[in-house]
Amino acid sequence: MTDPTDADPPAPMTVEMTDILVVGAGPAGSAAAAHAARAGRDVTLLDMAVFPRDKTCGDGLTPRAITEMLDLGLGGFLADRPRITGLHLHGWGAEQRVPWPGKRFADYGSAVTRVELDEEIRATAQAAGATMLMGYKAVDVEWDGARVGAVIVDGPDGRRAIKASTVIVADGVRSGLGKVLGRQWHRDTAYGVAGRAYVASGRSDDEWMGSHLELRGADGTLLPGYGWVFPLGHGQLNVGVGALATAKRPAHVELRPTLRHYAEMVRDEWAIDGEPQRLTSALLPMGGAVSGVAGPNWMLIGDAAACVNPLNGEGIDYGLETARLAVELVVDGVGDFTDRWPDVLTGHYSLAFSAARRLAAVLTVPKAVPLLGRPGLRSQKLMSMVVRVMGNLVTDEDRDLVARAWRTAGRASVRIDERPPFR
Ligand SMILES: Cc1cc2nc3c(=O)[nH]c(=O)nc-3n(C[C@H](O)[C@H](O)[C@H](O)COP(=O)(O)OP(=O)(O)OC[C@H]3O[C@@H](n4cnc5c(N)ncnc54)[C@H](O)[C@@H]3O)c2cc1C
Repeated sequence: MTDPTDADPPAPMTVEMTDILVVGAGPAGSAAAAHAARAGRDVTLLDMAVFPRDKTCGDGLTPRAITEMLDLGLGGFLADRPRITGLHLHGWGAEQRVPWPGKRFADYGSAVTRVELDEEIRATAQAAGATMLMGYKAVDVEWDGARVGAVIVDGPDGRRAIKASTVIVADGVRSGLGKVLGRQWHRDTAYGVAGRAYVASGRSDDEWMGSHLELRGADGTLLPGYGWVFPLGHGQLNVGVGALATAKRPAHVELRPTLRHYAEMVRDEWAIDGEPQRLTSALLPMGGAVSGVAGPNWMLIGDAAACVNPLNGEGIDYGLETARLAVELVVDGVGDFTDRWPDVLTGHYSLAFSAARRLAAVLTVPKAVPLLGRPGLRSQKLMSMVVRVMGNLVTDEDRDLVARAWRTAGRASVRIDERPPFR
């Protein structure tokens, strides 16, 4: 028997220092690292994955995301990618092509595999001066009162403590580090479950994103979800299905069979060749349905802060935006983020997220989708409004009737929210 006192003492932990530590190198974390490094800060960006890596996603970039990418200087990268004019919506025997509405964002979208997109934004952060650690997982923190004194990281060379004056947490949907910091995800409001696959196609250069609001299972049952076909260029499409759920009404959608059935349904229309490949699925926290998004020297951004649009499942754009907003706070020298960060998130997203997740909860009621979708799909004008609202392509500066009505709905919704976004 070995005497415990004979055991080797644990290897001393390496301690490192950085000004800003960013955990997670998805679009949110890498954009934050790029903005912070460009502002002249000493930045370390770490990810448990080794890049290039895949991430389950529809790969769709809306005009909101394009606007942020152009701001990051990624115009050249986008120039070689599909230029998407708008959405081609289908359902109940009708279809409408709706160009991206709204004037405040870029007038086009795109679709880029996450293997390529995330590698590009990550490399941009590194080129801006951020130190990158790949294959390093944040597992714990050392507290300094209510502040994070250091983040404990496991990597190929053992365990290390990284001390930082600011920690930006961008570790995605499950946000393991966020949990350590007290983040809670609330599923009483709408969240998403979605799956994607890649297929070869003769129409991968299309200028429209396909979206089916009438999603049916193999037995013809109407499902509370939607399907998408996003053209990626180079002979490839991203095909996927998503469903909305709440704790009260969980989604009983078997994603993989539904996705295979959907791909079959759109096979001729999209000139699909062969079977769907690389099927994966994931959950989506939505509409700011998390509390505990900040402390004195740390902030959660992107999916970790549930910044996903409840009406269309897009989160790359909000990841990029929250990255920029978080770095603005740091650069402004705001001393304590505990209240300031939820206030910033609330100011930017609360009205839209609150109204959107309420509407999303209505859409989990099986009869609601045809009731709203059937007449909507017959009017181009109505559908343009729906796409603008669904895509949150309304800004505070917009003064038109739709924008004002959407803001009024948001204000009313927040007033009756038991738990407003980010609280
Ligand atoms: C099926 C599906 C389809 C979707 N389609 C779209 C779409 O078409 N358009 C759109 O805009 N959005 C879409 N989304 C949402 C989008 O994928 C997310 O909103 C987006 O990836 C959020 O980016 P992020 O940087 O916050 O997180 P992520 O992209 O998830 O990045 C988090 C990173 O953190 C790393 N990490 C996690 N834990 C740790 C740790 N402890 N230590 C170190 N690193 C860690 C991970 O390895 C990962 O690289 C979809 C989501 C799903 C599930």
